[in-house]
Amino acid sequence: MKLDPDEWEEFRAIAHELLDACIDRLENAALHPWKPVPIDQVSKFKLSGQAKGYATVARRLAQEIMPYSTGNTHPSFFGWVHGSGLASGILSEMVSATMNSNAGGRDHGINYIERAVIEWSLNIMGFPSSGSGVLVTGTSQATVLALAAARQKKCPNVRQDGISSKQLTIYAGEGVHTATVKAIELLGLGRKALRLVPSGRNGIDLSSLKKKITKDFEAGYLPMAIVGTAGSVDLGRFDDLLSLAEISEDHNIWLHIDGAFGAWTRLADDPWHALTDGISLADSIACDFHKWMYIPYDCGMVLMRDEKSHRGTFSSRPDYLASQNRGLGGGDPWYCEYGIDLSRSARALKVWTAIETYGESGLGASITANCNAAAFMAELIERDVKMALVAPVVSNVCAFTADATLTVDQQSSLNKEIAIRLQMSGDAVFSTTVQNNCTILRAAITNHRTNMDTVKSCIESVIRIRKAVHHYKTRGDI
Ligand SMILES: *Cc1c(COP(=O)(O)O)cnc(C)c1O
Repeated sequence: MKLDPDEWEEFRAIAHELLDACIDRLENAALHPWKPVPIDQVSKFKLSGQAKGYATVARRLAQEIMPYSTGNTHPSFFGWVHGSGLASGILSEMVSATMNSNAGGRDHGINYIERAVIEWSLNIMGFPSSGSGVLVTGTSQATVLALAAARQKKCPNVRQDGISSKQLTIYAGEGVHTATVKAIELLGLGRKALRLVPSGRNGIDLSSLKKKITKDFEAGYLPMAIVGTAGSVDLGRFDDLLSLAEISEDHNIWLHIDGAFGAWTRLADDPWHALTDGISLADSIACDFHKWMYIPYDCGMVLMRDEKSHRGTFSSRPDYLASQNRGLGGGDPWYCEYGIDLSRSARALKVWTAIETYGESGLGASITANCNAAAFMAELIERDVKMALVAPVVSNVCAFTADATLTVDQQSSLNKEIAIRLQMSGDAVFSTTVQNNCTILRAAITNHRTNMDTVKSCIESVIRIRKAVHHYKTRGDI
């Protein structure tokens, strides 16, 4: 079998039909919540290894695969922090697949698109235009890259010698995302290098942070980085980035910001815009396009203030990757010099297409609307006699318990049960987390299809299910 179609006209018809099925699906996103994959369906996914041809496979993609999505394109999906996708993604992904560009380097279109996306992002974050950046899978990888650059700054010979200096230390608030912990482990710094600083409603406790840094210097450690959080995963809190910048400058410590979703409050109206004041003073920022910029998975980014140190951390151009002064083998930058991937997909195209389609104002208005929706959810919760907020809503995350009149254990079982039943019924997706030993419900609204009516009906569903779970009071479990 040839790997190109024998009959392009036939392929064209099949592809058009599939495109229509995709558009139908997205047009009716509100009808398609997550649903579990039926057990007989699972066996249908098994690869026989036999060639079935375009028509059969296209039909199976539409009928057997597409229905079983994560459900995050549905308006009442608030679980974890999942972006909701964009129609513009259908356009850009179609072109990406057709071009099949390798964005690792050389002189061709996609690299100019990535450059445009990075330049735009540097500007939005208030970084100098001399800064640098690269698109990656997500904030997890972006964090590894940023902390590798921070490590290189303290140990300039680390690429040759490994870590041969004093024990390096990193500082972050207690609610820091596990991505930072993983990055520290991966970079060989050891988890004990991470100093967790008490953190509250206003983020990292600054005086504890300063004390820890001073103590470490005195004890002979080498403080390497402060990781500030712009939008904590549990409660959507923001560290005081201006103060963190001051402290990092005073002690000559790299300031990295985990702004996975929260960095994009830069596009929102006040008061949310102000949450990221000071982000422009960081040495590096990790953030995602696939969360609060709604871009189809996967797409994250790291930005760095100092291009030279960024490139110096990762650049490797052996003979077979040498630059030509013209022709395809030329071009600059080569994005493989700013990260660990050599072969890279054209992630920039879906970002470029979205920004060009909806504009900063369109995307920003949606981010603002998500914050307003979270505030409205909080209002509804406070109006109910049993529900209670776990913490005030500062951005787009609303964390609450469905019945604060119960014991902690009863609340935990009730909240877990509500999360599961809402997911199973397709009414809404909340996730859970633990605060003060109690499992609570949590909505992170990074969903441009959510409006106030969605929020209202989701909270009504929570109340309905709370009532339905009538045993919990007396039994203490469910
Ligand atoms: C999601 C998230 C991460 C990890 O990002 P990925 O894109 O999933 O790799 C890191 N930090 C925060 C605050 C997050 O919300």
